[in-house]
Amino acid sequence: MSLSDIEHWVFDMDGTLTIAVHDFEAIRQALSIPADEDILTHLAALPADESAAKHAWLLEHERELALGSRPAPGAVELVRDLAGRGYRLGILTRNARELAHVTLQAIGLADCFAEAHVLGRDEAPPKPHPGGLLKLAQAWDVAVQRMVMVGDYRFDLDCGRAAGTRTVLVNLPNNPWPELTDWHAQDCAQLHRLLRA
Ligand SMILES: [Mg+2]
Repeated sequence: MSLSDIEHWVFDMDGTLTIAVHDFEAIRQALSIPADEDILTHLAALPADESAAKHAWLLEHERELALGSRPAPGAVELVRDLAGRGYRLGILTRNARELAHVTLQAIGLADCFAEAHVLGRDEAPPKPHPGGLLKLAQAWDVAVQRMVMVGDYRFDLDCGRAAGTRTVLVNLPNNPWPELTDWHAQDCAQLHRLLRA
């Protein structure tokens, strides 16, 4: 199947549609999370009080980042083109759904995604778990092989492979994970050109 045959597209958000601004180092420091531990996994394992307080801090910190979001090169043009073709579009992010919406608004793409198809950390298990992609496949009543997962990190590709979708890596000049990647593009602008080739 060529890329232009795919009509069901799922995007990671941070670093894929936006220029990455998360400073995970600063978050880890502020919340006393060891460098080698996953942030959400660490918070989930804390006592309830501490976990709730740290989640609240994280949400507030992320809201400020979301408001200042800027689109990644070519992302707006690509997504607008796909939406204009009538394709089904989704977001699968480890961010909260509400903040995903704030982010999409900030970069001018909020109208391209139905709220039900924006899956955040409370709507789907975190990537690389394939649950979010399987949920969208079901909602769209489409075979996973006819979907593509677009992301900027290994978890996005792993997630696509685990679900059985095709995968696209963007926003990295070199591809460290060729075995997980069906298409690699420097950025969404190049991906857009691949789509039209
Ligand atoms: Mg990302």
